[in-house]
Formats: sequence, C-alpha cells, structure tokens
Amino acid sequence: MSTIFGLIIQGKLPAKKVFENERILAIEDIHPIAPVHILIMPKKEIRDIHNLDVTDWPLMGEILEVAQKIAEEKGIENGYRLLTNCGKEAGQTIFHLHFHLIGGRVLGSMG
Ligand code: AMP
Repeated sequence: MSTIFGLIIQGKLPAKKVFENERILAIEDIHPIAPVHILIMPKKEIRDIHNLDVTDWPLMGEILEVAQKIAEEKGIENGYRLLTNCGKEAGQTIFHLHFHLIGGRVLGSMG
C-alpha cells in the first residue's frame, strides 16, 4: 500500500478516524471544504471506481451504508453530497479509492 491512505490504513500515519471496521475506514479530511468533510474508503487497495470489479459490489454497498450512518450521526441527513474523483483529470490526487462525504452548509450547484 503505497499511498497516503494506504499508510493511514496500516496505522503508519495518523488520522482522525470517524468509523472503522475490517473492510472500511472513514477519516476527517485534512483540508475540509465544509463543516462536515469525511473520506470513506475501502481498506482493500483499489485505485478508483473505474478499477472496481463485480466482486467489489457488496463492499460498495457497505460504503453507502456507512455514508448514511455517518450522515445521520453528523446531523446532515437532509442534505449532503457523496462523491468520488476518478482519475487525474477529474481531480483525483490520492490514488486509493475514497468517497467524499460533504455537508453542513448549503452546497449549491456542481458547476
Ligand atoms: P482527491 O483529490 O479526490 O483524491 O481527494 C483527496 C483528499 O484527501 C483531499 O480532499 C485532501 O484534502 C485529503 N487528504 C490529503 N491528505 C490527507 C491526510 N493525511 N488525511 C486526511 N485527508 C487528507
């Protein structure tokens, strides 16, 4: 695991953990763009959503379940954004799949 998130998953770098089980880790984003900005990632080393395969669907479902749970805990269940950047041109900077859970303010359009 060679990315920053890989090192965090292995416990070699610190992070503010919000949720963890055997398959999934959620941490606070170090540069939040909203009052709630959490990164939810599989512990399995997957580069991005384009590199998922059919065996990963249950894991993706569990990530959505974790996102719902964290949104409830943070009190943003009435409005939040869950997004992932896939590839350099989309703005991905860390090549270990992660989903940004963003909320706690009016988010406006995606444009
Ligand atoms: P992306 O650009 O979609 O790859 O998102 C990477 C995100 O990781 C950015 O929002 C960064 O602020 C965040 N980030 C980078 N390093 C760390 C870190 N050590 N701990 C938590 N979040 C980080």
